Amino acid sequence: LEVEGTLWDKLIRHEPPESLRPRPPVVTVLGHVDHGKTTLLDAIRQANVVGDEYGGITQHISAYQVERDGRKITFLDTPGHEAFTAMRARGAQVTDLAVLVVAADDGLMPQTREAIDHARAADVPILVALNKMDKPTAQPDRVKQQLADLNLTVEEWGGDVICVPVSALQNQGIEELLESILVLTEMAELRSNPDRPVVGTVIEGQLDRQRGPTATLLVQGGTLRVGDALLVGAISGRVRAMLDHRGEPVSEAPPAMPVLVMGLSEVPKAGDIFRQVESEREARALAEDAAERQRLALDRPTSAPGIVSLEDIFSRLQAGEVQELNLVLKADVQGSMEPIVNSIERLGSEDQEVRILHQGVGRITESDIMLASASNAIVVGFHVDVDEAARRTASQEGVEIRLYNIIYKLVEDVDKALRGMLE
Ligand code: GDP
Repeated sequence: LEVEGTLWDKLIRHEPPESLRPRPPVVTVLGHVDHGKTTLLDAIRQANVVGDEYGGITQHISAYQVERDGRKITFLDTPGHEAFTAMRARGAQVTDLAVLVVAADDGLMPQTREAIDHARAADVPILVALNKMDKPTAQPDRVKQQLADLNLTVEEWGGDVICVPVSALQNQGIEELLESILVLTEMAELRSNPDRPVVGTVIEGQLDRQRGPTATLLVQGGTLRVGDALLVGAISGRVRAMLDHRGEPVSEAPPAMPVLVMGLSEVPKAGDIFRQVESEREARALAEDAAERQRLALDRPTSAPGIVSLEDIFSRLQAGEVQELNLVLKADVQGSMEPIVNSIERLGSEDQEVRILHQGVGRITESDIMLASASNAIVVGFHVDVDEAARRTASQEGVEIRLYNIIYKLVEDVDKALRGMLE
């Protein structure tokens, strides 16, 4: 499953190397509520708007691009790890880099830790934006210490994590932040083929009262042009018009460029893959086929699509399909978390490991379920309950939740799952 990689990875693997060209990075902003994600995204957007460029049609597009010395960066405009992981659960991992916003006066909070774990589970590198540095109560060293405690040691302390002090509110440090993003992602040598048939991911779909179905599309391979015929699952269309994030009409969108597209027959869902087909007629025919297949599949009684249970994981471990048992662990208090983690980490063998993607104190939430769904993990709770939304999402996503009140029972079950002895 995971071996497959992202659409970016697949596109690189299947294209002739000489066809690949550098492409801009796609960046997501994560962090605790109120630490300044939205303000930072606004500041970055504004830093790059030159005078009268702001004349375009007002419209909503959920991603934007900024440019520095001819080098572009794409920002997804839906901040937070919930959105990030929800996309990932749908198989849409488009982010190359996570900017973790930490308010320097507040320090690392529960959702900061969650965000770190979500980025790590996705194998997405983290760059820290130390925000609210204008505040007299800012304590940058305290934050750096807290980061070091989570194995995110900043460069100036001998680690490899870039940390840029900023004030999103006062527009300070924004240029340095953009520069750091470019330095970091240039090392990653991000590439794509701009001359193949277009393929990419739907970032968001919207029904516009005047324009009908619209969608923010992120092009990942090829170059999208007005007039191209597209297929998105069971939805067909032809690109009638394309707008950039300023609302300006554009005729072409190369890899990593987000555009608002008009001309689809219906509103697609975030995370859907779109691809170019020969003609609108072919798109329509393929869309009808897909709709028919979906209808037939719905008529059949099925279990949830991506069902992940301990038993299921075991059979996959046995078959050699997976080498890890991924867990999301929630406990009532930190005091019970530690002995659980210590015991679990001792389990497993060289080729069959237990990996704790996230551990947190408190009830099981929707964000835990989405993380588990995106990473084929089991959610294990100790002396905690499950909130209503989480329960609903778990059954939709087919994520198993196991609740325990006795530590050794919990550890024993994980051990049994690894050994294939779970009843
Ligand atoms: P989000 O929940 O992470 O998106 O946070 P917001 O961007 O909504 O910011 C939360 C609050 O912090 C708002 O009142 C912002 O004005 C304020 N804020 C954001 N950045 C800064 C900053 O750099 N300095 C100060 N002093 N306040 C900031």
